[in-house]
Amino acid sequence: VKETGRAGAAVFDDQMQRKATQRMATKTHLGGALRRNELRLRFQPIMDLRTDAPVGFEALVRWEHPQRGLLSPSEFLPVAEESGLIVDLGRWVLENALRQLRDWESRLPDVRDLSIAVNVSTRQLQDPGCISFTEETLALTGVDPRRLHLEITETTLMGDVEAAIRHMTQAAELGVRLGIDDFWVGHSSLSYLHRLPAHTLKIDKSFIQDLGGTETRPTLIVETIIRLAHALGLDVIAEGVETETQRAELCRLGSDKAQGYLWARPLSPDDALA
Ligand code: C2E
Ligand code: CA
Ligand code: CA
Ligand code: CA
Repeated sequence: VKETGRAGAAVFDDQMQRKATQRMATKTHLGGALRRNELRLRFQPIMDLRTDAPVGFEALVRWEHPQRGLLSPSEFLPVAEESGLIVDLGRWVLENALRQLRDWESRLPDVRDLSIAVNVSTRQLQDPGCISFTEETLALTGVDPRRLHLEITETTLMGDVEAAIRHMTQAAELGVRLGIDDFWVGHSSLSYLHRLPAHTLKIDKSFIQDLGGTETRPTLIVETIIRLAHALGLDVIAEGVETETQRAELCRLGSDKAQGYLWARPLSPDDALA
């Protein structure tokens, strides 16, 4: 027992050590990644469940790492958040998402009706310059503010809640649409849901995955979230829809919009346009 224990601890230490080293390396290189233009955006269509047509795209960031390949946000966003680099990274995402929208428009006039959703993290929303940067970038790219949807997670609202709400209100005054992302995944947003100047509520994929099975509880929970959102005047988007059963169930329950692998994975700009 002792032997295994010691061996186990050694493996554990080794893994911890490797993780810590990788975190350090990520931190060192992430700043350079921004300067070297190694960040990429992928775009996942958001579908209107009544018409089954795309109404917009969510921009999702990736890092094209020269050695490690295309990294997903979970591999570098925590480090960006911790180091404060998230502010610059977030600005890069916003600017490039809006530019991409204009680029698509120049190639396909239909794009004019589509919205673009951008994720906003805690640090970004608390950055005093976030609203002026948003306003300037909208002006620079000439995108109608109503086409920009900022997705705000519950964790974004931890920390300085008052600053976050103030900035959300200012963004709404610009005409930008605000969405609550990952609703109910944490524990906090219910308490100030009524204070948020939001337009949409996004149901996390963890609630969607069990829809349409033999269990009735997942359905009841999703149904309740949709009712609550609609009672508050919010549009509902369901995320992580992978099966036809889930789609049909969401239609029946009255969800307005949805996104997920059933329609498309996050796509490159050219694939998204196609
Ligand atoms: P999120 O905002 O909840 O985004 C949804 C995630 O689910 C995305 O993962 C997306 O690729 C994935 N997804 C979409 N459809 C399906 C599906 O049908 N099945 C499954 N299993 N997954 C699906 P991704 O791209 O890895 O992003 C993870 C998280 O990273 C996002 O979660 C968001 O919180 C954050 N994130 C991504 N891009 C940005 C960004 O530019 N800025 C900030 N602040 N956060 C970002
Ligand atoms: Ca999101
Ligand atoms: Ca999220
Ligand atoms: Ca989510």
